[in-house]
Amino acid sequence: MSKRYFISACLLGHKVRYDGKDCLVQDILNHLLPQQYVTLCPEIAGGLPTPRPAAEIQFGSGQIVLERKISILNILHEDVSEAFIQGAYAALKVAQDFQVTHAILKANSPSCGSGLIYDGSFSGNKISGDGVTAALFKQHGIVVLTEDEFLQSLKHPPI
Ligand code: SF4
Repeated sequence: MSKRYFISACLLGHKVRYDGKDCLVQDILNHLLPQQYVTLCPEIAGGLPTPRPAAEIQFGSGQIVLERKISILNILHEDVSEAFIQGAYAALKVAQDFQVTHAILKANSPSCGSGLIYDGSFSGNKISGDGVTAALFKQHGIVVLTEDEFLQSLKHPPI
């Protein structure tokens, strides 16, 4: 089966980040046809507004948030865990409906980060771990790549 992608909406230029900006990576658009991918912002799908206060998983990975054993707090100390979890499941449904095989998810995000995320101290420190959506995708057999990993894979196929 040919690869079918889910892409973080902010990487495609949608202004859905917490700060109201996007993270457009034009090279992704240059390498994929519109019929090859679907997109969504999990945090918006979970009911959060743009802009919104920055949020970080509190000292652990998205897998543990999905088990509801740790929380995601925003910088105002509000618990936004449920919005992140609901958004992750909404993203999974979109991905599964499109029979996605691979996801290109924005690095470091508490939703979309893969392999490395902010640690929960709002100090810029990073730890090993996945965002909530990345964790859920991996649990369901979707290959998750950061934007840099995807672009690297184009230079060194196959991924
Ligand atoms: Fe981008 Fe994902 Fe954050 Fe939405 S949740 S702004 S798609 S990194």
